[in-house]
Amino acid sequence: MKLIPLPAFDDNYIWMLQSGTQALVVDPGDAAPVLQALASAKLTLCGILITHHHPDHTGGVDALRQATGAAVFGPARENMPEPLTRLRAGDTVQQLGLAFSVLDVPGHTAGHIAYYCNDVDAEPLLFCGDTLFSAGCGRLFEGTPAQMQHSLGQLAALPDNTRVCCTHEYTLSNLRFARMVDPNNARLQAYEVECLQLRQAGVPTLPSRIGLERQINPFLRTDVDAVIASIRHFDAEGYQQDGAFATLRRWKNQAK
Ligand code: ZN
Ligand code: FE
Repeated sequence: MKLIPLPAFDDNYIWMLQSGTQALVVDPGDAAPVLQALASAKLTLCGILITHHHPDHTGGVDALRQATGAAVFGPARENMPEPLTRLRAGDTVQQLGLAFSVLDVPGHTAGHIAYYCNDVDAEPLLFCGDTLFSAGCGRLFEGTPAQMQHSLGQLAALPDNTRVCCTHEYTLSNLRFARMVDPNNARLQAYEVECLQLRQAGVPTLPSRIGLERQINPFLRTDVDAVIASIRHFDAEGYQQDGAFATLRRWKNQAK
């Protein structure tokens, strides 16, 4: 089983999973890089998984469906390029001989879903769209901080060795913010050095791992004393009123 991030637009990845001559893609915002990858490796596209309705995740779906006849799967409650099979929490998708279970992860959008497979080459695989990023999380366009925190909590509870396939290469800018929030976190500092080297070499920082994210991602660490202290320093009143997570998300919006 081969897992390949296909770069798209400025900082998107379209994840491609390949088994023999068959392939699956997640969130193809653009058809061109997928068609190119299929042609150059002589692959058949069997399935398309969609996490949420934003155009940078769905823009290539119609063209790919027409060109390949691939089956399309997406969230139950969002505007989607039809026809497709709509999914909600508890559903399972069978693709490439693997079973992906569906999680409801509202917050970035109201009907955002994620796909989790616990048995791919002994390392679980998570396609989480714009919910969890390495060292960060998605903006709250349609959901509340409480919804997003609950969604991230579900993902953080997955096994430590789960490969986190998020859709954007935001890691370095997230890490600059994370360092302000969690300035004495040695694991975070070491990870930033690793990621800088990867990006300088033109290599994706993804997939990340759930165990690593639990150590370095401030949005999964709003119960850690040092992180709380920073959030209170940023806005003590907001912290009292809205709690750590909501205040941290607001801080991040302003920091960008
Ligand atoms: Zn999005
Ligand atoms: Fe996106």
